[in-house]
Amino acid sequence: MSGPGVAGPVVVIGGGPAGMAAARAAARLGVRVLLVDSGAMLGGQYHRQNSLAGRDLFALPPGVEHLPHTVVWALEPVPGGGHRVHLRTGPADGPGRTGREVGTRALVLATGAYDRALPFPGWDLPGVYTAGAAQALAKGQGVRVGERVLVAGTGPFLLPVAASLTAAGAGVAGVLEAAEPVTAWLRRPAGAVAGWRKFGELAGYAALLARHRIPYRRRTAVVAAHGTDRVEAVTTARLTPGWETVPGSERRVEADAVCVGFGFVPQVETALAAGCALDGGFVAVDAAQATSVPGVFAAGELTGVGGAGPAAAEGEVAGVAAAKLLGARPAPPAAALRRVRAGRGFAAALARAYPVRDGWRTWLADDTLVCRCEEVPYGELRRSVQEREALGVRAVKLVSRAGLGQCQGRVCGPNVACLTGVPDAAAFARRPIASPVRLGELAEPPPAEPEPGT
Ligand SMILES: Cc1cc2nc3c(=O)[nH]c(=O)nc-3n(C[C@H](O)[C@H](O)[C@H](O)COP(=O)(O)OP(=O)(O)OC[C@H]3O[C@@H](n4cnc5c(N)ncnc54)[C@H](O)[C@@H]3O)c2cc1C
Repeated sequence: MSGPGVAGPVVVIGGGPAGMAAARAAARLGVRVLLVDSGAMLGGQYHRQNSLAGRDLFALPPGVEHLPHTVVWALEPVPGGGHRVHLRTGPADGPGRTGREVGTRALVLATGAYDRALPFPGWDLPGVYTAGAAQALAKGQGVRVGERVLVAGTGPFLLPVAASLTAAGAGVAGVLEAAEPVTAWLRRPAGAVAGWRKFGELAGYAALLARHRIPYRRRTAVVAAHGTDRVEAVTTARLTPGWETVPGSERRVEADAVCVGFGFVPQVETALAAGCALDGGFVAVDAAQATSVPGVFAAGELTGVGGAGPAAAEGEVAGVAAAKLLGARPAPPAAALRRVRAGRGFAAALARAYPVRDGWRTWLADDTLVCRCEEVPYGELRRSVQEREALGVRAVKLVSRAGLGQCQGRVCGPNVACLTGVPDAAAFARRPIASPVRLGELAEPPPAEPEPGT
């Protein structure tokens, strides 16, 4: 139902903290909202709901149509303004998904991020998980990925992962943090102040590690995994400030699973399809979460990584701005704007405290797979790019096959860009088809075409 003089719908892509907040804020202003999310239930990554519980914990206000199990697989600008959003609804691997196209003049992108893994010898063995995957399994289904697990990488996200694994009954053999975060926070205390709400949470995790006698080691990483059919042990090593291994510090540790997470990479496919400008790999937004494209707003991890709280605040600001564009007359969301400012300060401080240093490249051997889908080892990637002087993402993909497989560079793209010196890593996400669709689905006659704003 639209309020007087308000055209709809606002289309929100993503049902995580940012997308839900955007949908709620716009709907409260009387605007019709379509909330599209690929998950079966609302909540995104942070509020990942137990898919076996069968009951959605989140309620949305009247005026929001929630399309679960729905992907936006393409996005087109419409001449004269607005965008046409192409949807497919139905379980991803199942037959009989249905197609729909929706026109909108106010689009909110809240597609979140992927977690980043760095390659190392043996990372393609069964038993090596991304920290996010292990977290999703533990939180979503209560599944533990192993009995004796190491959590390694960089960033505060390693702590909730260790907590969830412990809650799921796994023995966590240690949390290995590659950075030296304490020194970084002490050097720039302003960032810590901006994120003060998070520090209570961190203290809780520290207490949990102490209670379960889980060691937390700084400047340490898993630099190799060993095993025949699956992980049986790993090599850990102390790192220099640039992340090269300290000679002689290597130790072999028995483990049947290892979870690695090196921060997050924003999921920018739909933002790039809409033509939005990026800044440092994230979608560039102004104070009202407006992107460089009129009528397109972005919120959450897409614009910077600061956690669920700031993502929700950005979502609220974006939802209000989108509703205003369609004719609503809102008061400025002052509290949310304040939380957004603090969140941006915290996100910048996080990025400085947990940078990914170049020394990880020295962990690789020539036969370490960099692109697992196309099975491209590091040595072959280096040789093919050097011999053929491949300079851009497209050329690197064509000469090496890296990024051409099933994940389309979502996992290997940032690492391949780093290893080959390609400047524009986000170009791996430039694809006209944002999510997998079957050829049969593409061949179907298009659904009746609505105009933006109808
Ligand atoms: C695997 C993983 C697990 C995480 N777990 C935690 C955790 O336990 N605790 C924590 O503090 N932080 C966690 N994070 C960090 C977390 O993502 C954020 O702090 C928070 O969830 C960000 O909110 P968001 O709304 O920006 O994005 P998200 O919560 O990621 O929501 C984005 C939503 O967009 C949907 N989407 C994306 N593209 C499309 C498309 N083309 N079509 C339709 N829908 C689409 C996704 O399915 C998702 O539901 C996790 C991150 C990842 C990647």
